[in-house]
Amino acid sequence: MRLADKVALITGGGSGIGKASCLLFAKEGAKVVVVDLKLDTAEATVDEIHKAGGDAKAFAADVSKAKDAEAMVRFAEESYGTLNVVFNNAGVFHPDDDSVTNTSEAIWDMVINVNLKGVFLGCQYAVPALLRAGGGSIINTASFVAIMGAAAPQIAYTASKGGVLAMTREIAVEFARKNIRANSLCPGPVETPLLAKLLSDPARRNRRLVHIPMGRFARAEEMANAALFLASDESSFVTGTSFLVDGGISAAYITPE
Ligand code: NAD
Repeated sequence: MRLADKVALITGGGSGIGKASCLLFAKEGAKVVVVDLKLDTAEATVDEIHKAGGDAKAFAADVSKAKDAEAMVRFAEESYGTLNVVFNNAGVFHPDDDSVTNTSEAIWDMVINVNLKGVFLGCQYAVPALLRAGGGSIINTASFVAIMGAAAPQIAYTASKGGVLAMTREIAVEFARKNIRANSLCPGPVETPLLAKLLSDPARRNRRLVHIPMGRFARAEEMANAALFLASDESSFVTGTSFLVDGGISAAYITPE
């Protein structure tokens, strides 16, 4: 098993990419701390892991609050004795996050607080725990929009994900000789509850689909597989990278007809 004897903490583990990653990491032998804003969704993921014979525990935390971020890391160490992998994946996407000219300060603050400050706090408390463990792997969820502009804007979301890329690189470099690796995962559009409303509108769906060379959106499990590689020792020489899993979007000028 690819994560045997590892303890992994995954935020946003109650839905979408986070949930798929919790299930896959547990299947690969990890003991998983499933963190989400809502305890019931984290517990539902834990139930699925237990039914499949895996080991996991649920924890409720708001990743944008320092005391919650500290508590989730402490919970992982107290529950399983150590921490080896941290997947800072929780994130939000708000329908009123739009152009730079009409996005409110409140929406900006809310999105940046969860998507960027949440990752900062996750790393702030995880790094000392990983150092105590002798090293480990940090995976921070960014997005392909961190490297590409869109005429269908979401300015706070895009800025938050660009911040995740820059922050993750710096963490990777600072702790490279302490046996901690840190990488960003940059998903293309994935069919999860985050995008469900947007993608249910055929015009908005097709406006995006036409730019994807593969001609389809991703599945959460495809992101979980990428995260598994970054979490495992198979990626032992990979750090500071922005791992694009985008169906070819960022490579494309003209997509196939
Ligand atoms: P999702 O909405 O299915 O799941 C996100 C989870 O995060 C939810 O369970 C939610 O409760 C949790 N969460 C939200 N705010 C939180 C907080 N403050 N504290 C703790 N948990 C919180 O979304 P998803 O599509 O699985 O997205 C996961 C990550 O992937 C996000 O960072 C998102 O920005 C990123 N991403 C998604 C896509 C996509 O197309 N779906 C593309 C690129 C990047």
